[in-house]
Amino acid sequence: MSQTNVVVVGAGVIGLSTALVLSKHKNFNVTVVSKHMPGDYDIEYASPWAGANFMPVGKEGSKLRALEKATWPEVDRICRELPEAGIHYQECRVYGRKKDEGTAVGVWFQELMKEDPWFKDLMPDLRILDKSELPPSCDTGTVFKSVCINTAIYLPWLAGQCLKNNVILKRGILSHISEAPSHHSAGNASIILNCTGLLTSKLGGIMDTTVYPGRGQIAVVRNEPGAMHTTSGTDDGSDEAMYIMQRAAGGGTVIGGCLQHGNWDSQVDPNLAERILQRAVDICPSLAPKTGKVTELSVIRHGVGLRPMREGGIRVEKEKIGKEWVVHNYGHAGYGYQSSWGSAWEAERLALEILEKEGKTAKL
Ligand code: FAD
Repeated sequence: MSQTNVVVVGAGVIGLSTALVLSKHKNFNVTVVSKHMPGDYDIEYASPWAGANFMPVGKEGSKLRALEKATWPEVDRICRELPEAGIHYQECRVYGRKKDEGTAVGVWFQELMKEDPWFKDLMPDLRILDKSELPPSCDTGTVFKSVCINTAIYLPWLAGQCLKNNVILKRGILSHISEAPSHHSAGNASIILNCTGLLTSKLGGIMDTTVYPGRGQIAVVRNEPGAMHTTSGTDDGSDEAMYIMQRAAGGGTVIGGCLQHGNWDSQVDPNLAERILQRAVDICPSLAPKTGKVTELSVIRHGVGLRPMREGGIRVEKEKIGKEWVVHNYGHAGYGYQSSWGSAWEAERLALEILEKEGKTAKL
């Protein structure tokens, strides 16, 4: 059976998941080429900054909802069977406030906050919270079982799984997508996977102008909240958010945040940092059990990541650009982990369609 050379551009959660899925076909030779790799922290690399948890937010009829449905069983399986991947189960408490309807964060979390949500048969142990269980500022709430991923373990684990399947990982910066084949270890490739996230907006041959940053600022602390907590908004502006999640395996607790559309600023805003910590302690006093004060929080670091937003939502499509077949897989905004496997399998399906067009078949 003849071999097909495949280049995956990008080594975020989307590029690595896609490379891993493709590498299971014995007649695909996969090379991942990327400007950033697991271990790097950079404003152009969203994946390390994510919490990352699984809170379904896909709207009715959206691609995102289908991808979240497809992804949960795999994340659940990895959590259950593969502790070395750095995922653990954690109770997820979500609190709605009527006044957040229509705000940037309120729209993002609209489906999440419903008391009869579409994901009631997907996420285990979902129940409506009693009024006595809600923080005083909140009107509604539900709790369900979810996961929190330690991205500092999960991304290297994904890279390791790729290496085990003979994927070549290498550094490279592309200015145009047509350069991708020359980055393959064999010097040529028939299929290119574009997993460049936010930088798809600047990549020659694509330059998707509907892709833009959704800035997120976070703090990582040593304190333990006992459960994940999220509200539908805050009183500090329509684009400021409150979420708390404890990463698996000593990864600390990630506290956010904000969703600032169109903001490329890589620097931590110290005033926002103070508000982030204060809001977390207000909603989850068990973070600071001795004093109830922010000063009890032991900060590991503050950080900023840019979510790869896209006006039309996630793009998983194939396109012929010049002589090259490109499968796009980008635009995962604030939900790249919780849609990663569904996106990777969709990209795989498109890659197999290209092979079929060329009269070849894939071999598992
Ligand atoms: P990236 O991780 O940005 O990777 C893009 C890759 O492409 C990089 O390796 C980069 O170097 C490479 N690249 C780009 N251009 C080029 C080029 N020209 N040449 C070579 N290489 C190139 N999601 C969740 O599911 N749950 C969460 O709880 C969650 N929380 C988040 C919190 C914050 C603060 C942020 C910022 C995001 C959060 N997300 C969350 C969203 C998630 O992080 C993103 O959707 C996801 O990381 C996107 O992955 P990606 O691989 O598409 O992009």
